[in-house]
Amino acid sequence: MNVPIRARLTALYFVVLTVSFAVFVWVSDFGFRRSIEATVNDASRTNLESVQRLLARTASQGDAEARDALARLAEVWPNGALFEVADAQGNWIYRPARFLQAHPALPLASDRNISSFTTNLDYLQYRVALQRVEAGGRVFEIHAAVPTEPFDQALDHFRLIEKETLPLLVFLASLVGYWLSGRSLAPVNRIIETAESIGVQNLSRRLEVPKARDELRRLTETLNAMLGRIDTSVQRITQFTADASHDLRTPVAVVRATAEITLRRPRTAGEYRDALSRILETSVEASELLENLLTLARADAGAAAMDMRLVDLSAYVRKAKERAVVLSADKTLHFTARMPVDPVWVRADAIAIDRLLLILVDNAVKYTPAGGRCEIELSQDRGQADITVRDTGIGISEGDLASIFERFVRADRARSRETPGAGLGLAIARWITEMHGGTIAVESKVGSGSVFRVRLPAAPSAVTLVV
Ligand code: ADP
Repeated sequence: MNVPIRARLTALYFVVLTVSFAVFVWVSDFGFRRSIEATVNDASRTNLESVQRLLARTASQGDAEARDALARLAEVWPNGALFEVADAQGNWIYRPARFLQAHPALPLASDRNISSFTTNLDYLQYRVALQRVEAGGRVFEIHAAVPTEPFDQALDHFRLIEKETLPLLVFLASLVGYWLSGRSLAPVNRIIETAESIGVQNLSRRLEVPKARDELRRLTETLNAMLGRIDTSVQRITQFTADASHDLRTPVAVVRATAEITLRRPRTAGEYRDALSRILETSVEASELLENLLTLARADAGAAAMDMRLVDLSAYVRKAKERAVVLSADKTLHFTARMPVDPVWVRADAIAIDRLLLILVDNAVKYTPAGGRCEIELSQDRGQADITVRDTGIGISEGDLASIFERFVRADRARSRETPGAGLGLAIARWITEMHGGTIAVESKVGSGSVFRVRLPAAPSAVTLVV
């Protein structure tokens, strides 16, 4: 439904108010009528009692005396109230003309209890109370009537006031509701306007935070925080794309230049071989770079699925050491591996773990000059599996340590040296570790070497399961 919130809120106010007022009218009308009934009944009973008391005093003195006394009482009778008295045979002792004209034959009281009913006397409505009483040894019938007119008028008045004021009140309250909802929704409109103006070009812009500490303020702050995260991600992606294109341009340019220069004039077979091997070497570097870029792009997209299985890390550490020996074949490096006798089980993706260890040992070999020492160690400690790769290489300066796991970050010394690499290995290593619920840390000192520690949650149950 395409109805604005403001209109919906106002309609809701209107309906709620109308229903509340209708209930109020019904309840108050009912209460009013009940209260009129009680008042009128009380009044007619009180009147009955007055007549009864008078009869008790005068009945023994004869009917004439009683009639006189009753007539005197009628003169001081409260507004419009009437009474009539008959003896047990139905002969009227006292009966005002009004009663007679209007109602020649009122029903008789059947017992000593008071009975009441409403009737029209002379076009006016009366509440009549009937009672048979004993006074001066005789039985009398008393009818006392109280006009309900004044009460009915009050009720009519009340109803009229309700009829005239309540619809107006509902209307005014709905108007106020409309204005109030407009006022409270105004910040939402401002948020919408600003949000509409934010695009990739001005992601640093933020929504204006309302002063009141309410839900809208929380919403704005949440949206601003979200914008901040999107901004950072977009910046990272932009930076990543720029760095990736830059790093890819170099090998492509090398391949192209090598081919162009070689083709300028006829070459000897040896020159062609040299050119081709340079092209091959550069293409291998470029495809490794592409492979790494693809891994990180998949990681960002959350599309890289890990195939978690129980694996024994010892086997992978052993394999990594063998590779390191091959990698350091043209350098005289002393590479050792240390691991416990028992298997170290973790829940991991075998290919990812292989890659993680290769990155670390490859770096250790790359950044350790000939004659140095490297070591990979595996150990298990209180539910954790630790892989430590140590080297006595060039080390990393304190300034570079903090950013070494970021993408495309290479320490100054690595950049200045002719070591291949694009600064993606450790970013991938960190991502793999985190995907396994582990941590990776580095300690290093320029000139003395580096220590990389990977800590993964061990799978203790596997020991009993597999052994
Ligand atoms: P790459 O090795 O391709 O440059 P990495 O992400 O693997 O990228 O490493 C980032 C940087 O961290 C390297 O360029 C290097 O400066 C530094 N680094 C990594 N491992 C070592 C190490 N064992 N010794 C010294 N520096 C290292």
